[in-house]
Amino acid sequence: MWNKACRDPSLWCKLDLSRLNSYFFNIPNNQPGACKRSNAKMTQFIKYVLSLSNGTTCLVFNYNVHLTDEQFIITAERTPNLKRLVLPKTVEFSRVDVHVAMKSWEGLESINITSNIPSHYIFPAIGKYCKNIIEMKFGYGCLFEEKHVEALIKCAPNLEGLSIRSKMTKMEALCGVFTFLEHLEAVNILHSFIIDASYRGLGDVDICYLQNHLPPSSLGKLIYCEGGSCLRCKNGNSITTGRIFQIASIIMRASEDLWREDEITSLAR
Ligand SMILES: [Zn+2]
Repeated sequence: MWNKACRDPSLWCKLDLSRLNSYFFNIPNNQPGACKRSNAKMTQFIKYVLSLSNGTTCLVFNYNVHLTDEQFIITAERTPNLKRLVLPKTVEFSRVDVHVAMKSWEGLESINITSNIPSHYIFPAIGKYCKNIIEMKFGYGCLFEEKHVEALIKCAPNLEGLSIRSKMTKMEALCGVFTFLEHLEAVNILHSFIIDASYRGLGDVDICYLQNHLPPSSLGKLIYCEGGSCLRCKNGNSITTGRIFQIASIIMRASEDLWREDEITSLAR
């Protein structure tokens, strides 16, 4: 009876692995033996969980799990109905594996990706197989720049929600987002560090500058922090020190809690 009960599809619509104890699944840098055991444990865990699940439409990986190509393919093959995917911080995918996985997820609508996934792998694969992408969140690390906008135009022309929260972003890229993605309804730039070379020489721009320099179509679509009112500030993550510390803080806060939260509620887990 328990076996039958735990296979009920209603239990598995959302598979949230973010509560896994990452200590057992993360790869210690200097312990090759532990790394192998950790990988084997994760593979076994994914196979077991996905053998029970049926009809999963939302899959959230633990932010700190190191996902291998084998685990990625196993997951993709067993979740053909996936609509939302939240990938972890570090992955180890080949170009071929990314294509195989994305081919299994033709109904995907929403994805969180980090800078550890090579953009020249993931974006062409999304563009080729996942024609229904309407939401995307970029993780921390690399700069959000024009090449990302060009990729979005090709692979997700119907994008409605974009989160580049707490991310270093080029002003030109932000302009491109509003100029070329005409279906956008919300762009989360909360605590992002916007860089524009023409703004007082160098530095992150303020919201008045943004409003004056972005295309008129951006009005009402930008989500930003107003006077410490956002989730991050409320949770005690307010940054009140100088800009150098702000940059350092953005990099240092590449953490699971920032990845989890989002003011675009459908992009929050
Ligand atoms: Zn804030």
